[in-house]
Amino acid sequence: MANKEKPSSEHEPGFVSLKNLDKSFGDINAVANLNLDVAQGEFFSMLGPSGSGKTTVLRLIAGFETATAGSITIDGEDVTNFAPFDRTVNTVFQDYALFPHMSIQDNVEYGLRAKKVSKPERSQLASESIESVKLSHLATRKPHQLSGGQRQRIALARALVMRPKVLLLDEPLGALDKQLREEMQSELKRIQRESGITFIFVTHDQDEAMRMSDRIAVFNMGKIEQLGTPQEVYESPETAFVAGFLGSSNLLEGDKAQALFGVSDLVNIRPERVTLSGAGTHHDTSHESIPAIVKDVSYIGSSTMYIVESEGGVRLTALRLNQELPADYVDFAPGDKVVAMWQKSHVAAIPNNQRLTPEGSNP
Ligand code: ATP
Repeated sequence: MANKEKPSSEHEPGFVSLKNLDKSFGDINAVANLNLDVAQGEFFSMLGPSGSGKTTVLRLIAGFETATAGSITIDGEDVTNFAPFDRTVNTVFQDYALFPHMSIQDNVEYGLRAKKVSKPERSQLASESIESVKLSHLATRKPHQLSGGQRQRIALARALVMRPKVLLLDEPLGALDKQLREEMQSELKRIQRESGITFIFVTHDQDEAMRMSDRIAVFNMGKIEQLGTPQEVYESPETAFVAGFLGSSNLLEGDKAQALFGVSDLVNIRPERVTLSGAGTHHDTSHESIPAIVKDVSYIGSSTMYIVESEGGVRLTALRLNQELPADYVDFAPGDKVVAMWQKSHVAAIPNNQRLTPEGSNP
């Protein structure tokens, strides 16, 4: 779909619409009164820690689980009580679920055969689908003769050949190593863009969700904590959970927030917004600043992370990109006196400011 509208967190009519959805397993409320609208052609991610309910929501959309209450509509049709094969959705799983005894071509044709599509037509459609994931040269092989990344592409081709209205992806890259995973992330985005199919993607990896998604729903304990574009959920987290789950944070409230930022409500500043300069050296007076002592330094490749402590005992994390360093730079070490600086505009209030701890410190 060439002219895909850019989704935003503003309300749009739901192509996939979940209303007041509940799912209990005995005493466990895996999904609690969930409302969610996914737009057509959107790359939508459900992100959250293990057990937060995202896979259950995916399985409810696929029809592998039955809702305890609520409704699911896809493209205007109420599918709440439809069997999985009557829904215009397909699912791609982490473990590929390919048939080991069949060739790649036959694996991809399988769903079409079940739908009684004629041999010449299904052969052509499967070839096109294998072509779309760039594996035509391997069509006669069996799954065990492919790498993990290639198998995952074939699992995708097998789902895409059915032209589903919605493709559900359950941690599809979870079994791949980092490099292959990153390659497949851009591959998945390309395929989604070119096919125009609505993708609903489950992951617990925040970088992956940020990199790929038009919008992200951040799950916690069976509920959506926040829904928005990657930039919205990262830059303007509405809860302490979201601020802590997406990237690193300096979450402060009460006396500690008062000491640094002049407010006592819960606030957050991202570590990359806190800069350090040596005590006694010239520093930017347009910034807020406090004297501090370096407590810890961690070199993490592309960046270095510092924990510093103010005279009043408030700890802040600062992150600096290593590419900015001059060749003769001498790094800070634990015990060094520094000035920690930030811009006031980067201190973000957390609107849903349930208290963190009785002392109001970082958890
Ligand atoms: P993960 O990333 O580990 O897959 P998740 O966010 O996808 O986690 P779910 O798998 O949806 O979480 O699980 C949500 C809750 O429901 C968990 O407490 C889980 O133990 C429970 N649960 C899920 N499926 C079942 C089941 N078939 N029977 C009982 N409890 C279940």
